[in-house]
Amino acid sequence: MFKNTAPDLANFASSIASWQRRAGRHGLPWQDSTDAYRIWLSEIMLQQTQVATVVQYYERFLERFPTVEALAAAGQDEVMPYWAGLGYYARARNLHRCAQQVCEHWKGRFPESVDDLVQLPGIGRSTASAIAAFAYGKRSPIMDGNVKRVFARYFGIEGDPSLRANEKIFWQTAETALDIAPPELDMTAYTQGLMDLGATICTRSRPACTRCPLASGCYAYQTGSQDRLPTRRPRKTPDQRPCVMLILEREGKILLEKRPSTGIWGGLLSLPQYDDIEAMESACLNWGLDVSQAQKMAGLSHAFSHFTLHIEPWLLQDASTKVAEPSVGHIWMPRQELSQAALPAPVSKLLMGLYQPAIFELAENG
Ligand code: SF4
Repeated sequence: MFKNTAPDLANFASSIASWQRRAGRHGLPWQDSTDAYRIWLSEIMLQQTQVATVVQYYERFLERFPTVEALAAAGQDEVMPYWAGLGYYARARNLHRCAQQVCEHWKGRFPESVDDLVQLPGIGRSTASAIAAFAYGKRSPIMDGNVKRVFARYFGIEGDPSLRANEKIFWQTAETALDIAPPELDMTAYTQGLMDLGATICTRSRPACTRCPLASGCYAYQTGSQDRLPTRRPRKTPDQRPCVMLILEREGKILLEKRPSTGIWGGLLSLPQYDDIEAMESACLNWGLDVSQAQKMAGLSHAFSHFTLHIEPWLLQDASTKVAEPSVGHIWMPRQELSQAALPAPVSKLLMGLYQPAIFELAENG
Protein backbone atom coordinates (compact mmCIF):
# COMPACT_ATOMS: atom_id res chain seq x y z
CA MET A 1 0.00 0.00 0.00
CA PHE A 2 2.82 2.42 0.79
CA LYS A 3 6.60 2.25 0.59
CA ASN A 4 7.47 3.10 4.16
CA THR A 5 8.05 -0.37 5.62
CA ALA A 6 8.43 0.83 9.21
CA PRO A 7 6.21 3.87 9.82
CA ASP A 8 5.93 4.79 13.49
CA LEU A 9 2.15 4.65 13.37
CA ALA A 10 1.70 4.39 17.11
CA ASN A 11 3.34 7.78 17.67
CA PHE A 12 2.47 9.51 14.40
CA ALA A 13 -0.54 11.51 15.64
CA SER A 14 0.82 12.23 19.14
CA SER A 15 4.15 13.51 17.75
CA ILE A 16 2.28 15.94 15.52
CA ALA A 17 -0.02 17.08 18.36
CA SER A 18 2.84 17.73 20.77
CA TRP A 19 4.88 19.49 18.05
CA GLN A 20 1.87 21.73 17.34
CA ARG A 21 1.55 22.74 20.99
CA ARG A 22 5.28 23.49 21.11
CA ALA A 23 6.05 25.00 17.70
CA GLY A 24 2.87 25.25 15.61
CA ARG A 25 0.95 28.37 14.68
CA HIS A 26 -0.85 30.07 17.57
CA GLY A 27 -2.84 33.25 18.02
CA LEU A 28 -4.80 33.04 14.76
CA PRO A 29 -8.22 34.65 15.26
CA TRP A 30 -10.16 31.40 14.73
CA GLN A 31 -8.07 29.37 17.17
CA ASP A 32 -8.95 28.76 20.82
CA SER A 33 -12.62 28.71 19.94
CA THR A 34 -15.06 25.82 19.78
CA ASP A 35 -17.71 27.97 18.10
CA ALA A 36 -18.60 25.93 15.01
CA TYR A 37 -19.71 29.06 13.12
CA ARG A 38 -16.32 30.76 13.51
CA ILE A 39 -14.47 27.53 12.72
CA TRP A 40 -16.58 26.82 9.66
CA LEU A 41 -16.07 30.37 8.36
CA SER A 42 -12.29 30.12 8.74
CA GLU A 43 -12.19 26.72 7.05
CA ILE A 44 -14.15 27.96 4.04
CA MET A 45 -12.04 31.13 3.75
CA LEU A 46 -8.81 29.14 4.03
CA GLN A 47 -9.69 26.90 1.08
CA GLN A 48 -7.27 28.00 -1.66
CA THR A 49 -6.36 31.20 0.23
CA GLN A 50 -3.31 31.97 2.38
CA VAL A 51 -3.66 32.51 6.13
CA ALA A 52 -2.24 36.06 5.97
CA THR A 53 -4.91 37.12 3.46
CA VAL A 54 -7.74 35.40 5.32
CA VAL A 55 -6.97 37.12 8.64
CA GLN A 56 -7.96 40.55 7.29
CA TYR A 57 -11.19 39.28 5.74
CA TYR A 58 -12.18 37.05 8.64
CA GLU A 59 -12.43 39.73 11.27
CA ARG A 60 -14.21 42.20 9.01
CA PHE A 61 -16.69 39.48 8.03
CA LEU A 62 -17.39 38.55 11.65
CA GLU A 63 -17.92 42.15 12.66
CA ARG A 64 -20.67 42.43 10.06
CA PHE A 65 -22.06 38.87 10.46
CA PRO A 66 -21.25 37.84 14.06
CA THR A 67 -23.56 34.79 14.08
CA VAL A 68 -24.88 32.23 11.64
CA GLU A 69 -28.34 33.80 12.08
CA ALA A 70 -27.01 37.22 11.06
CA LEU A 71 -25.42 35.74 7.95
CA ALA A 72 -28.54 33.75 7.03
CA ALA A 73 -30.76 36.83 7.41
CA ALA A 74 -28.60 38.96 5.08
CA GLY A 75 -29.16 39.13 1.33
CA GLN A 76 -26.49 37.62 -0.92
CA ASP A 77 -25.68 41.11 -2.22
CA GLU A 78 -24.81 42.20 1.32
CA VAL A 79 -22.42 39.27 1.74
CA MET A 80 -20.47 39.67 -1.50
CA PRO A 81 -18.61 42.91 -0.61
CA TYR A 82 -17.19 41.12 2.43
CA TRP A 83 -15.84 38.35 0.19
CA ALA A 84 -14.71 40.35 -2.83
CA GLY A 85 -10.96 39.85 -3.31
CA LEU A 86 -10.84 36.37 -1.73
CA GLY A 87 -11.63 34.78 -5.10
CA TYR A 88 -13.47 31.50 -5.79
CA TYR A 89 -16.84 33.21 -5.39
CA ALA A 90 -18.85 29.99 -5.47
CA ARG A 91 -17.55 29.62 -1.91
CA ALA A 92 -19.31 32.82 -0.84
CA ARG A 93 -22.59 31.75 -2.43
CA ASN A 94 -22.39 28.34 -0.77
CA LEU A 95 -21.44 29.99 2.52
CA HIS A 96 -24.64 31.98 2.46
CA ARG A 97 -26.80 28.99 1.46
CA CYS A 98 -25.13 26.89 4.14
CA ALA A 99 -25.90 29.47 6.85
CA GLN A 100 -29.54 29.47 5.75
CA GLN A 101 -29.74 25.66 5.90
CA VAL A 102 -28.11 25.54 9.34
CA CYS A 103 -30.76 27.99 10.58
CA GLU A 104 -33.64 26.24 8.84
CA HIS A 105 -32.80 22.60 9.52
CA TRP A 106 -30.46 22.67 12.52
CA LYS A 107 -31.91 25.53 14.61
CA GLY A 108 -28.76 27.61 14.08
CA ARG A 109 -26.35 24.98 15.48
CA PHE A 110 -23.95 23.22 13.11
CA PRO A 111 -24.43 19.43 13.24
CA GLU A 112 -21.70 17.40 14.94
CA SER A 113 -21.27 14.42 12.65
CA VAL A 114 -19.18 14.45 9.49
CA ASP A 115 -22.02 12.66 7.65
CA ASP A 116 -24.44 15.49 8.47
CA LEU A 117 -21.92 18.27 7.86
CA VAL A 118 -21.07 17.07 4.34
CA GLN A 119 -24.74 17.42 3.38
CA LEU A 120 -24.45 21.21 3.77
CA PRO A 121 -23.53 23.39 0.76
CA GLY A 122 -19.81 23.99 0.26
CA ILE A 123 -18.66 21.52 2.93
CA GLY A 124 -16.52 18.66 1.63
CA ARG A 125 -15.28 15.70 3.66
CA SER A 126 -12.05 17.30 4.86
CA THR A 127 -13.75 20.57 5.87
CA ALA A 128 -16.49 18.60 7.66
CA SER A 129 -13.84 16.63 9.54
CA ALA A 130 -11.97 19.78 10.53
CA ILE A 131 -15.18 21.38 11.89
CA ALA A 132 -16.07 18.17 13.77
CA ALA A 133 -12.56 17.94 15.23
CA PHE A 134 -12.14 21.60 16.21
CA ALA A 135 -15.68 22.33 17.39
CA TYR A 136 -16.72 18.97 18.84
CA GLY A 137 -13.44 17.09 19.45
CA LYS A 138 -14.44 14.26 17.06
CA ARG A 139 -11.75 11.83 15.92
CA SER A 140 -12.28 12.65 12.26
CA PRO A 141 -9.30 12.77 9.86
CA ILE A 142 -8.66 15.68 7.50
CA MET A 143 -7.05 15.36 4.06
CA ASP A 144 -6.43 18.53 2.06
CA GLY A 145 -3.59 19.26 -0.36
CA ASN A 146 -1.04 20.14 2.35
CA VAL A 147 -1.91 17.11 4.44
CA LYS A 148 -1.65 14.83 1.40
CA ARG A 149 1.89 16.10 0.91
CA VAL A 150 2.86 15.15 4.48
CA PHE A 151 1.25 11.70 4.13
CA ALA A 152 2.73 11.05 0.68
CA ARG A 153 6.23 11.82 1.97
CA TYR A 154 6.03 10.22 5.37
CA PHE A 155 4.35 6.98 4.25
CA GLY A 156 5.85 6.92 0.75
CA ILE A 157 2.50 6.92 -1.04
CA GLU A 158 3.12 7.00 -4.80
CA GLY A 159 0.70 8.09 -7.55
CA ASP A 160 -1.25 11.25 -8.40
CA PRO A 161 -3.08 12.12 -5.13
CA SER A 162 -6.02 13.60 -7.04
CA LEU A 163 -6.93 10.27 -8.65
CA ARG A 164 -9.83 8.58 -6.91
CA ALA A 165 -8.01 5.26 -6.33
CA ASN A 166 -5.03 7.02 -4.76
CA GLU A 167 -7.21 9.36 -2.77
CA LYS A 168 -8.78 6.33 -1.13
CA ILE A 169 -5.33 5.22 0.08
CA PHE A 170 -4.70 8.65 1.65
CA TRP A 171 -8.01 8.59 3.52
CA GLN A 172 -7.54 5.00 4.69
CA THR A 173 -4.05 5.82 5.96
CA ALA A 174 -5.36 8.89 7.81
CA GLU A 175 -8.10 6.77 9.41
CA THR A 176 -5.59 4.10 10.45
CA ALA A 177 -3.30 6.73 12.00
CA LEU A 178 -6.24 7.90 14.15
CA ASP A 179 -7.44 4.39 15.01
CA ILE A 180 -4.00 3.56 16.39
CA ALA A 181 -3.48 6.88 18.19
CA PRO A 182 -3.97 6.91 21.99
CA PRO A 183 -7.51 7.65 23.20
CA GLU A 184 -6.40 10.85 24.94
CA LEU A 185 -5.10 12.37 21.66
CA ASP A 186 -5.84 16.11 21.55
CA MET A 187 -7.78 16.35 18.28
CA THR A 188 -7.48 20.14 18.07
CA ALA A 189 -3.69 20.02 18.35
CA TYR A 190 -3.39 17.05 15.97
CA THR A 191 -5.65 18.55 13.30
CA GLN A 192 -4.06 21.99 13.57
CA GLY A 193 -0.63 20.32 13.66
CA LEU A 194 -1.22 18.53 10.37
CA MET A 195 -2.26 21.83 8.79
CA ASP A 196 0.72 23.68 10.25
CA LEU A 197 3.21 21.00 9.31
CA GLY A 198 2.04 21.01 5.69
CA ALA A 199 2.03 24.81 5.50
CA THR A 200 5.24 25.66 7.32
CA ILE A 201 7.62 22.64 7.50
CA CYS A 202 6.73 20.03 4.90
CA THR A 203 6.43 22.65 2.19
CA ARG A 204 6.23 21.92 -1.53
CA SER A 205 9.83 22.90 -2.18
CA ARG A 206 12.72 22.68 0.28
CA PRO A 207 10.89 21.12 3.26
CA ALA A 208 12.56 21.81 6.62
CA CYS A 209 13.06 18.14 7.47
CA THR A 210 15.62 18.78 10.19
CA ARG A 211 12.94 20.65 12.17
CA CYS A 212 10.19 18.11 11.47
CA PRO A 213 8.79 15.97 14.29
CA LEU A 214 8.30 13.09 11.83
CA ALA A 215 11.85 13.02 10.42
CA SER A 216 13.03 9.84 12.13
CA GLY A 217 10.31 7.71 10.51
CA CYS A 218 9.80 9.63 7.25
CA TYR A 219 10.19 7.66 4.03
CA ALA A 220 10.93 10.71 1.84
CA TYR A 221 13.53 12.08 4.26
CA GLN A 222 15.25 8.74 4.69
CA THR A 223 15.38 8.10 0.93
CA GLY A 224 15.91 11.70 -0.23
CA SER A 225 12.73 11.61 -2.31
CA GLN A 226 11.05 14.81 -1.03
CA ASP A 227 11.16 16.35 -4.54
CA ARG A 228 9.47 13.33 -6.11
CA LEU A 229 6.62 13.03 -3.59
CA PRO A 230 3.76 13.64 -3.81
CA THR A 231 3.69 12.48 -7.43
CA ARG A 232 2.99 15.45 -9.68
CA ARG A 233 0.08 15.37 -12.02
CA PRO A 234 1.00 15.98 -15.69
CA ARG A 235 0.86 19.72 -16.25
CA LYS A 236 -1.38 21.28 -18.85
CA THR A 237 -0.64 24.73 -20.22
CA PRO A 238 -3.43 27.01 -19.00
CA ASP A 239 -5.76 28.44 -21.63
CA GLN A 240 -5.25 32.05 -22.64
CA ARG A 241 -8.53 33.97 -22.91
CA PRO A 242 -8.65 37.53 -24.17
CA CYS A 243 -11.59 39.80 -23.39
CA VAL A 244 -12.56 43.45 -23.67
CA MET A 245 -14.04 45.49 -20.81
CA LEU A 246 -15.85 48.79 -21.14
CA ILE A 247 -15.34 51.52 -18.55
CA LEU A 248 -18.30 53.73 -19.34
CA GLU A 249 -18.26 56.93 -17.32
CA ARG A 250 -21.04 59.50 -17.14
CA GLU A 251 -21.42 62.38 -14.71
CA GLY A 252 -18.90 60.89 -12.28
CA LYS A 253 -20.54 57.47 -12.32
CA ILE A 254 -19.34 54.17 -13.80
CA LEU A 255 -21.55 51.59 -15.44
CA LEU A 256 -21.33 48.21 -13.72
CA GLU A 257 -23.17 45.02 -14.47
CA LYS A 258 -24.07 42.15 -12.21
CA ARG A 259 -22.45 38.85 -13.19
CA PRO A 260 -24.69 35.78 -13.49
CA SER A 261 -24.80 33.84 -10.22
CA THR A 262 -22.86 30.90 -11.68
CA GLY A 263 -19.48 30.92 -13.42
CA ILE A 264 -16.45 33.06 -12.64
CA TRP A 265 -17.11 36.04 -10.38
CA GLY A 266 -20.70 34.84 -10.00
CA GLY A 267 -22.92 37.37 -8.22
CA LEU A 268 -20.28 40.12 -8.17
CA LEU A 269 -20.47 43.48 -9.89
CA SER A 270 -18.10 43.90 -12.82
CA LEU A 271 -17.52 45.98 -15.91
CA PRO A 272 -19.45 45.15 -19.08
CA GLN A 273 -17.33 42.43 -20.70
CA TYR A 274 -17.11 41.33 -24.32
CA ASP A 275 -15.30 38.64 -26.30
CA ASP A 276 -13.73 41.18 -28.64
CA ILE A 277 -13.72 44.81 -29.71
CA GLU A 278 -16.45 44.29 -32.35
CA ALA A 279 -18.84 42.98 -29.70
CA MET A 280 -18.11 46.01 -27.48
CA GLU A 281 -18.65 48.40 -30.39
CA SER A 282 -21.95 46.88 -31.27
CA ALA A 283 -23.15 47.13 -27.63
CA CYS A 284 -22.09 50.79 -27.59
CA LEU A 285 -23.96 51.46 -30.83
CA ASN A 286 -27.10 49.87 -29.35
CA TRP A 287 -26.81 52.25 -26.41
CA GLY A 288 -26.40 55.21 -28.79
CA LEU A 289 -22.83 55.89 -27.66
CA ASP A 290 -20.15 57.48 -29.81
CA VAL A 291 -17.66 54.62 -29.70
CA SER A 292 -15.03 56.59 -31.64
CA GLN A 293 -14.43 58.53 -28.38
CA ALA A 294 -13.34 55.37 -26.54
CA GLN A 295 -9.69 55.25 -25.46
CA LYS A 296 -7.74 52.04 -25.07
CA MET A 297 -6.17 51.69 -21.61
CA ALA A 298 -3.23 49.60 -20.41
CA GLY A 299 -4.29 45.94 -20.24
CA LEU A 300 -3.87 43.49 -17.42
CA SER A 301 -3.95 39.73 -16.96
CA HIS A 302 -5.46 37.62 -14.24
CA ALA A 303 -4.61 33.96 -13.69
CA PHE A 304 -7.35 31.53 -12.70
CA SER A 305 -6.49 27.91 -11.89
CA HIS A 306 -7.27 26.67 -15.40
CA PHE A 307 -6.94 29.74 -17.61
CA THR A 308 -5.52 33.23 -17.79
CA LEU A 309 -7.81 36.12 -18.62
CA HIS A 310 -6.22 38.97 -20.59
CA ILE A 311 -8.29 42.11 -20.15
CA GLU A 312 -8.20 44.93 -22.71
CA PRO A 313 -9.99 47.88 -21.06
CA TRP A 314 -11.55 50.77 -23.01
CA LEU A 315 -12.57 54.02 -21.36
CA LEU A 316 -15.51 55.94 -22.77
CA GLN A 317 -16.34 59.23 -21.07
CA ASP A 318 -19.82 59.88 -22.31
CA ALA A 319 -21.07 63.44 -22.46
CA SER A 320 -24.13 62.85 -24.63
CA THR A 321 -27.60 63.12 -23.22
CA LYS A 322 -29.09 60.64 -25.63
CA VAL A 323 -27.73 57.46 -24.10
CA ALA A 324 -30.34 54.76 -23.72
CA GLU A 325 -30.70 53.71 -20.08
CA PRO A 326 -28.80 50.51 -19.43
CA SER A 327 -30.93 47.43 -19.03
CA VAL A 328 -31.78 45.39 -15.94
CA GLY A 329 -28.65 44.12 -14.20
CA HIS A 330 -26.74 47.35 -14.81
CA ILE A 331 -26.14 50.06 -12.27
CA TRP A 332 -24.41 53.42 -12.31
CA MET A 333 -22.00 53.61 -9.39
CA PRO A 334 -20.44 56.88 -8.22
CA ARG A 335 -16.64 56.72 -8.59
CA GLN A 336 -16.03 57.40 -4.92
CA GLU A 337 -18.10 54.31 -3.96
CA LEU A 338 -16.10 51.91 -6.13
CA SER A 339 -13.73 50.94 -3.34
CA GLN A 340 -16.71 49.60 -1.32
CA ALA A 341 -18.25 47.62 -4.19
CA ALA A 342 -18.14 43.82 -4.52
CA LEU A 343 -15.81 43.82 -7.52
CA PRO A 344 -13.51 41.00 -8.73
CA ALA A 345 -9.87 41.69 -7.78
CA PRO A 346 -8.56 42.58 -11.29
CA VAL A 347 -11.53 44.86 -12.02
CA SER A 348 -11.03 46.57 -8.68
CA LYS A 349 -7.32 46.98 -9.48
CA LEU A 350 -8.15 48.45 -12.87
CA LEU A 351 -10.68 50.94 -11.52
CA MET A 352 -8.64 51.88 -8.46
CA GLY A 353 -5.64 52.54 -10.71
CA LEU A 354 -7.78 54.83 -12.81
CA TYR A 355 -9.85 56.57 -10.13
CA GLN A 356 -8.06 56.27 -6.83
CA PRO A 357 -6.13 59.55 -7.34
CA ALA A 358 -9.40 61.31 -8.15
CA ILE A 359 -11.05 59.82 -5.08
CA PHE A 360 -8.18 61.03 -2.91
CA GLU A 361 -8.55 64.48 -4.41
CA LEU A 362 -12.26 64.48 -3.64
CA ALA A 363 -11.54 63.44 -0.05
CA GLU A 364 -8.82 66.08 0.36
CA ASN A 365 -11.01 68.83 -1.07
CA GLY A 366 -13.78 67.85 1.30
S1 SF4 B 1 10.71 14.76 7.36
FE1 SF4 B 1 10.62 16.22 5.69
S2 SF4 B 1 9.55 15.20 4.05
FE2 SF4 B 1 9.19 14.03 5.93
S3 SF4 B 1 7.25 14.79 6.68
FE3 SF4 B 1 8.87 15.94 7.68
S4 SF4 B 1 9.21 17.77 6.41
FE4 SF4 B 1 8.01 16.30 5.22
